[in-house]
Amino acid sequence: MTKIIFCNQNNWGFRLSFTLKIYTFLALFSILFSTEIIANTYEVSSQNEFRLVLKKILPGDTIVLNNGVWNDFEILFEADGEENNLITLRAKTKGEVFITGKSNLRIAGKYLVVSGLIFKDGYTPTSSVIEFRKNKDKLAYHSRVTEVVIDNFNNPERTENDSWVMMYGKKNRFDHNHLEGKKNKGVTMAVRLNSVESQKNYHSIDNNYFGPRQILGSNGGETLRIGTSHHSLTNSFTMVKNNYFDRCDGELEIISNKSGNNRFIGNVFFQSKGTLTMRHGNDTLVEDNIFLGNGVDHTGGIRVINKRQTVRNNYIEGLKGYRFGSAIAIMNGVPNSKINRYHQVEDSVIENNTVINSDHIQFASGSDAERSAVPIRSHFRDNLIYQKSQNDPFTVFDDISGITISNNRINKIQNFQFKDGFIEDNIEFIRLNNKLLYPKNESILAGVSRDLLPINKADVGVSWYPKNEIQKSFDFGKSLSVSPGDNSIFNAIKSASDGDILILEPGDYRVQKILEINKSISISSEDSSDVNIYFARGALFEIQNRGNLKLSNITISGAESPDSSGNSVIRTNKSITDNYKIIISNSNVIDLDINHSFNFINPSKSSFADLIEISNSNFQNITGSVVLLNKENEDYGIYNAEYITIKNSLFKDIEGSIVNIYRGGTDESTFGPHLKILSSTIINAGNGKRNKSRSSLNIHGVQVTDIQNNTFEDSSPINVIHTVGEPVTKIINNTLLNTSKVKVLELNSDNENTALLMNNIYN
Ligand code: CA
Repeated sequence: MTKIIFCNQNNWGFRLSFTLKIYTFLALFSILFSTEIIANTYEVSSQNEFRLVLKKILPGDTIVLNNGVWNDFEILFEADGEENNLITLRAKTKGEVFITGKSNLRIAGKYLVVSGLIFKDGYTPTSSVIEFRKNKDKLAYHSRVTEVVIDNFNNPERTENDSWVMMYGKKNRFDHNHLEGKKNKGVTMAVRLNSVESQKNYHSIDNNYFGPRQILGSNGGETLRIGTSHHSLTNSFTMVKNNYFDRCDGELEIISNKSGNNRFIGNVFFQSKGTLTMRHGNDTLVEDNIFLGNGVDHTGGIRVINKRQTVRNNYIEGLKGYRFGSAIAIMNGVPNSKINRYHQVEDSVIENNTVINSDHIQFASGSDAERSAVPIRSHFRDNLIYQKSQNDPFTVFDDISGITISNNRINKIQNFQFKDGFIEDNIEFIRLNNKLLYPKNESILAGVSRDLLPINKADVGVSWYPKNEIQKSFDFGKSLSVSPGDNSIFNAIKSASDGDILILEPGDYRVQKILEINKSISISSEDSSDVNIYFARGALFEIQNRGNLKLSNITISGAESPDSSGNSVIRTNKSITDNYKIIISNSNVIDLDINHSFNFINPSKSSFADLIEISNSNFQNITGSVVLLNKENEDYGIYNAEYITIKNSLFKDIEGSIVNIYRGGTDESTFGPHLKILSSTIINAGNGKRNKSRSSLNIHGVQVTDIQNNTFEDSSPINVIHTVGEPVTKIINNTLLNTSKVKVLELNSDNENTALLMNNIYN
């Protein structure tokens, strides 16, 4: 039985309408004829009304937040419901209540439900957006958050650490929520076990949409973490079921399991970089999950560490990840490991999984002087592997006699390394209605069961809020013609829409104001020799949130720039949280030499580029660096760009470095940076007296380096410093004229450096 009570800011009290009279009558009727509690529904329109209602709230009651924008609202929903008389806080209309500004939600007490809210256009002033507790002593139990959206609710400082959801207490449920666009540091969602009241919690995290999380570029970008190393030998009993992880690329761990007896069942991992990692804690069940990589770099599967882990009936297709990010990695442990290092794999079972066209399955991975405890009493059986390429996906890093390998099936592989434990045979596949591949021959029982049903993206999260779809980065808008003039590019960018292409007419452009890029913009022309851009400020372009910049067929000159040091052609604003892309092709950049330290791309310290790509372009007379990504000085392992690619370009008379990348520290949770320099010519680079690195390419802590078919002439050397993470460095087929030898240093290892230097000609 329900009574609706309107709370009005101007006239605090009850405003009874005709409908309400009926409700009241029905309520009285119900008192007379039953013992049922009268449930009140209070509609509130202000924070004050909310707090007043909360004081008198009783089991069974509902508080309705009126539609509209609630700015700077720190909601403390503290109450005690009963098992059959929950207390609810909900939006009047789902999707029409916006919590904005410096806001958050704390839930404390028991039998509480929150639903229908949208957190956007703001960030939490505390360390979490939704917390299942009021404070250390007052936690939530038997409570539920459902159909809540958190969308890009990010601290404007990328390196500020906060989280979106923190679960404490016991028997809480977080379901059918939509979390998308976490950009600053900190795990998106965590289950905390930091007191006895939060252990053995039996929480359920189910049917949620974990939307895209961009690459963070340091540790601390996990999407879900359960426990911490400190409480990792404690049982959590958390269920993670039927969630959809859509492009969760924050870091190496999509899920970091760090406590005992958790279950991960029926989740879909779509094009997500990283893995479900059993980092700490025993007795985990990983079953019926689907991993779809679509050939995207660093998409990974399941990483097995610790005791009594079960990995069963998981479907894995198209993953590219390697090392700790492999489709399946069974790791080595540390003998008598400290609680925060790597515990040995014992008594674990990996069975009935299907792994299709995925590059790597690794046994005893991470084997080194410290991680020397090989897996024991474990099984790898009844798995089905298919490699269209016929490449052997397995790598074995240590003694794996402790893994019993049996009854697996694999197609014909070139020089397959296992003699036992696999039937190697031609297998024909068919895609069934569940969109998964199975052997045509139904008598092959290895791999996942035929009734496995992946959850649909459309069926998770909320139905009333759009899910993120894959979008093009550039050129999805319209083409606009721009004529020469002092402010014509500025004005064109201002009025352009996201994805538009500005076509510059031939002539000279003198840009008087910094061009702020806060959408995707392409600037091009018919012929680069006909279009010259000069600029009068310390920067030509400033990339801001939502900005992506593509330049083609233009000439940029620094000849008319201010006569002061430290100019740049492209910079970012200081607190940019969105990752961005820059693509330059068929362009000329000349005369950045009016004063010293004039750089081409010089982003701010905490900024992050998903891609910087330069091709078929010429750079000449530059007193600074072309791409300067060396801002970190604390060695936290925070870097500035994921992919840096240069090809078919000419660099001449560059006083700084062509590329200067610094990724310090010893953390192993990131994929990049990745650097490629191909078929380019570098003449007189890196010789300026202000170039502290004394190098033409300064490559510190880069994870993947590929330098091939270039000519270096009269230049400072290539300087490579390996830090951690088994970096892959290839420097092949380069010609070095009057240029000193490539230098490679292993910073944290006494071993010989692992760089591959081949066919480089010195003269
Ligand atoms: Ca991590």
